[in-house]
This record gives sequence, C-alpha cells and structure tokens, in this order.
Amino acid sequence: NRQVILKRYVTGCPTVEDMEVVTGTLRLAVPPGSPAVLVKNLYLSCDPYMRTRMTKHAVPSFVPDYVPGKVLDNCGVSKVVLSGHPDFKPGDLLWGVTGWEEYTLIPNPVFCHMINHREFPLSYYTGVLGVPGLTAYAGLFEVAKAKKGEYVFVSAAAGAVGQIVGQLAKLTGCYVVGSAGSDHKVNLLKAKFGFDDAFNYKKELDLNAALKRCFPHGIDVYFENVGGAMLDAVLDNMRHRGRVAVCGQVSQYNLERPDSVDLFRLVGKHIRMEGFLVSEYAGEYRRRFEEEMARYLTEGKVVCVEDVAEGIEAAPAALVGLFAGRNVGKQVVVVARE
Ligand code: NDP
Repeated sequence: NRQVILKRYVTGCPTVEDMEVVTGTLRLAVPPGSPAVLVKNLYLSCDPYMRTRMTKHAVPSFVPDYVPGKVLDNCGVSKVVLSGHPDFKPGDLLWGVTGWEEYTLIPNPVFCHMINHREFPLSYYTGVLGVPGLTAYAGLFEVAKAKKGEYVFVSAAAGAVGQIVGQLAKLTGCYVVGSAGSDHKVNLLKAKFGFDDAFNYKKELDLNAALKRCFPHGIDVYFENVGGAMLDAVLDNMRHRGRVAVCGQVSQYNLERPDSVDLFRLVGKHIRMEGFLVSEYAGEYRRRFEEEMARYLTEGKVVCVEDVAEGIEAAPAALVGLFAGRNVGKQVVVVARE
C-alpha cells in the first residue's frame, strides 16, 4: 500500500522533501461489527488548505494538523472494497475524506457520499461537483449574495474554486473579472470560462490601477481567495455596501507572520466582509447544489478544467505546485482508474 506521509512540519513554502512516498502494510479486512469501509482510492484532491495542516498549531485550527510519520488525508474519490457499513457495499463509488494512499480503512465513513452522477468523469467529485464547486456556490450566493447586474471580482480565478465562481456569477447576470498568475490562465478565463475581463496580477505594477481599469464604477462583490496585496488593493475599489466573501488567503499560508491589511476601510462604505467554511453547507444544501451543478454541466452552461497528475508518487509535487501556481484548473491526482 503506497502512502504519502508528512516527513516533518513545514516552515515557509512546502517542498516535495517535506513528504515521502512509503510502502505500508495492508490488511484486507474491516474490524467485525464496526461501520468501517476499506476503499481503493482512485482520485485524490490537492488543496491549498493542506499546507495550513503541515504546521503545528499552538491553538487547534478548524481541522487537525497533520502528524509527521502519518499518512496525509483529504477529499478523494474511492471504490468500496469491503464494508461493515449498512449504506455502502463493495463496488460502490464514494467521494469524501480519505487517505493519501492506494487503499484506506475509513473507520466510520461519515464524511463520505455516494457518487450520484456517473455521466461525468469521476474526478469532477474532487472539483466542480465536490468541495471546490460547493465552496464557489455557497460563497457566491449565501455569503456574498451576488445579484444580477453587480460587479464581481474573483482572485485565483483560474483555480478549482475561482473558475466556478466566475461562471456562476456570469449565469446570474453579473459583470465578472478575474485575476490569475499567467497569460495562459488569463486567456482561459476569457475564452473558456466567459469572464468579461481578466488580468495577470504578476505583470501589473499597480494592482489598484489594474482594478480601476477593470472596474471604473467599483466592485460590489469580491470573492477573496488570496489575501495580501490583492485584498489591500480591492478594499480601495469596493462600492458602498459591497461584500467580501473571505474564502481563503493562499498568499498567506506560507508566511510566518501574515501581512496586515487596514480593515478600517470597511467602515466608511458599510462593506460586509465575511469568512466562511464550506463544511457549513452540508446535507440538503449540498444535495441541491449537486443537482443544480450537474444540470449546468449537462446543458454546457458550466465547464471545468482539471490538471491531472498521474500516480501517487506525483502527489507531493502536485500539492507543492499549488503555491507556485503550476496548476491550471483543479489539481487532482489519479491513483488508479476504476
Ligand atoms: P487553486 O486551484 O486556485 O490553486 C491555488 C492557486 O492559488 C494557484 O494555482 C495560484 O494561481 C494561486 N496562488 C498561489 N500562491 C499565490 C500567491 N502567493 N498569491 C496569489 N495567488 C497565489 O486552489 P483552490 O481553488 O482549491 O482554492 C482557492 C482558495 O479557496 C484557497 O485560498 C483555498 O484555501 C480556499 N478554499 C476555501 C474553502 C472554504 O471552505 N472556505 C474551501 C476550499 C478552498 P495563480 O497562477 O493565479 O497565482
């Protein structure tokens, strides 16, 4: 059973050497009487928040820190091999929290869901039909409350969450601009995802000027994925009663001391800035999202781009690549095909 373990706690940018691919033992059994399932992992999701789990926190975070010597975990798509759980049987396809390894014994599959839409590639359940898609949907509609005719800005717009935010905002009738870190990604935003405009933040000398150029009337909704200098520039360009959905701050995850941004700018213009965690949007809400998104995919109203790394050995580099922007679209690792 090949497994990706954390070798040591990380400071600064994560590297491939912070992880190791090892061979562990595998028992083809589930403990009698337990609700455990043994799964074969097919697709593993690479997500920026995994970096935050590679540091030891003095105060517990919303999700447990990884432990050196232990297998990493995150969302993935898996096939049930053995089951002690009444809802799952061998052969079922699931998505949810699993290990970064070929086979995982999940003691209690409370964070696993059946794959309902086999008409799409299974990997979509690590992206557009899984956590990133739900994050985009809940963040845009529940937190930012984007409405027709509004001006929407998305950072890390060509990534897993950003590409869906932009398309959902367009379907709602908003004017949408995205930022990304390469000309290739900027072209993708405009040509494939239908953004009204986009810019390469690495080529702009003045982010404030870039935002003024794209939004002469200001921004109603900012879907915040990066933090730092971008957030700083955005706050100077928000409109009265604007909303900032704080989804993530990937530019800050590798810093020992986060940048500080002057939040007093929220006051004068009554801007609402609200953080949110996708895990709040489980149950019935998630099921509604899945059906709506599946419909959009079938009708061709939403498309998605994936960046697929082959084999579990490629997983550490795929994860590290998120922090250099090497991924174009949703970063996923194929461990095995069905
Ligand atoms: P992405 O697919 O967008 O991958 C990360 C991207 O971030 C990279 O491709 C890169 O794109 C960009 N990036 C990396 N470093 C920097 C930097 N220093 N400054 C600016 N951009 C950078 O990841 P996701 O779509 O999975 O995640 C996007 C955000 O959403 C993250 O902040 C993540 O933590 C958050 N998130 C939050 C959730 C929640 O529940 N609140 C749930 C899921 C995700 P580029 O080339 O454009 O620089």
